[in-house]
Amino acid sequence: MPKPVIWTVDDDPDVLLAVERDLRRQYGDRYKVISADSGESALEAVKQLKLRNETVALFLVDQKMPRMSGVEFLEKAIEFYPDAKRALLTAYADTDSAIRAINSVQINHYLMKPWDPPEERLFGVVDDLLDDWQASYHPVFEGVRVIGHRWSPQANDIRDFLGRNFVPHQWLNIETDEVAKQLFSSTGAAVTALPMVVFSDGSFLASPPIAAMASKLGLKTKAELPFYDLVVVGAGPAGLAASVYGAADGLKTLLIEREAPGGQAGRSSRIENYLGFPTGLSGADLARRAVAQARRFGVEILAPQEVSGVRIEGPSKMITLADGTQVGCRALLIASGIAFRKLEVPGLEKLNGAGVYYYAPMSEAFSHRDGDIYIVGGANSAGQAAMYFSKFARQVTMLVRGNSLSDSMSQYLENQIAATKNIAVKFKSRVVAVEGSGRCETITIQNTETKAEECVPASALLIYAGAIPRTDWLAGLVERDAQGYLISGQHLMREGRRPAGWTADRDPFYLETSVPGIFVAGDVRHRSAKGVTSGVGEGAMAVKLVHEYLGLL
Ligand SMILES: Cc1cc2nc3c(=O)[nH]c(=O)nc-3n(C[C@H](O)[C@H](O)[C@H](O)COP(=O)(O)OP(=O)(O)OC[C@H]3O[C@@H](n4cnc5c(N)ncnc54)[C@H](O)[C@@H]3O)c2cc1C
Repeated sequence: MPKPVIWTVDDDPDVLLAVERDLRRQYGDRYKVISADSGESALEAVKQLKLRNETVALFLVDQKMPRMSGVEFLEKAIEFYPDAKRALLTAYADTDSAIRAINSVQINHYLMKPWDPPEERLFGVVDDLLDDWQASYHPVFEGVRVIGHRWSPQANDIRDFLGRNFVPHQWLNIETDEVAKQLFSSTGAAVTALPMVVFSDGSFLASPPIAAMASKLGLKTKAELPFYDLVVVGAGPAGLAASVYGAADGLKTLLIEREAPGGQAGRSSRIENYLGFPTGLSGADLARRAVAQARRFGVEILAPQEVSGVRIEGPSKMITLADGTQVGCRALLIASGIAFRKLEVPGLEKLNGAGVYYYAPMSEAFSHRDGDIYIVGGANSAGQAAMYFSKFARQVTMLVRGNSLSDSMSQYLENQIAATKNIAVKFKSRVVAVEGSGRCETITIQNTETKAEECVPASALLIYAGAIPRTDWLAGLVERDAQGYLISGQHLMREGRRPAGWTADRDPFYLETSVPGIFVAGDVRHRSAKGVTSGVGEGAMAVKLVHEYLGLL
């Protein structure tokens, strides 16, 4: 296969020569470096490259060019290569236009000229961008292939599972893809075997349950040791942070995740309010980086694996996993977050996964190119989805129960939505019916004030209707509030008295639950701030408190 391309464009011949030379020296063994001295000539060459079915990994483009600016070039080039990473080369005076471009063409980075020495000021950024690109780049003939019907909920679950567990895979639609038809017929299986997962060694599984796929893919679901210093339940931002800091501090740490690392954040198309990432980053990238960091520090990660119970034996906590096995620990951290709330609407459940999605995977966007998409919810997650899907859909309509977005959404996102032509917001609205044969085709919207109803064509309904904690497995052991959030620290104290059954000779630590040595962090905590940053912060703080607890034993 041809090497992926790094494309650099600059109208200054000296700069172009220098950047081309630096890139070739550093990346020439793995990437083909192509240069052009104007946006127009580069664009012609981009079209040719596309016809030859070659891939672009990165565009590194000068912003200030006379006839076509870097941003204008990128706007056109990404129509051909939407997945390529984009960086602008700017002079100090042009940084404002580069920052504005972050939103219009989703610039991943801007670099200041000059970039000498390149080892310090160029290669670090380019390495990072290429790593991110590689993580979501699926070479055509390698990895796992999923064959199925476009609107099959099971096929959708399989793709979601593979994507969120960072398993490179290719989706093949049996209805439209000749390769899919050929591949499927070569297995000799009956149509009822769909969806089918074909592995790189040529073996395949028909309609596989997630556990069967996990085992075939060699994902780790069994603990190596019987006992750990720290067990963390949930690999969202809070659990990942706690595991990284726990293991970095020398605690033998086990992290257990029911679905896939990343938690809710793993479904975010673009987190813009996380410190240190001025151009934002996707939840998948954040999760992938955190998992790599955790592994580097020696965290053992089980996924997919669910914690179903816990009991106390003296100073130890004994955890039961969904497969019936047990593992013990000195300290336990619950970072199990919150799970989406289901909508009770006639017709909706039957089409779940077939045009109707709770917290839709980003990969769905491609299937709804030029479609009419409706989004339920008015919080940041709904806003991000609207922004992301608007790049593909003809029209996106947000259905919001209240009469403004400001109560529930960050200002920057509200501004972006207001400035996006193909996003409309309908206030005082709710969905009361979903219909379609085999896939979502129409929805009925009710005005909550007048009760007037309208039935509209909808290619997809994406639901971001809030979330609730799922902590039933802790009932009777750990104190929870009326919604199921875990209570910790000072919130456990009633008129200066410690919680019932409390055995330690001290008050509970800030993130400690009603059981000494069981801690809580992130969205599942009663009165937590909610969000990626506070989850990460609490995860880190919990480790500090775990040390204090272990020091007192
Ligand atoms: C689409 C979307 C966009 C968002 N965008 C932003 C944003 O831009 N900025 C921001 O600050 N916040 C954002 N949020 C919110 C943010 O993602 C959450 O606040 C954050 O992920 C909470 O982290 P957490 O670790 O506490 O829990 P979670 O992220 O909910 O992770 C908990 C994990 O625990 C696992 N788990 C649960 N029970 C068990 C069990 N019994 N056994 C094993 N594992 C279990 C779950 O599968 C899950 O992976 C967004 C949320 C969504 C859904």
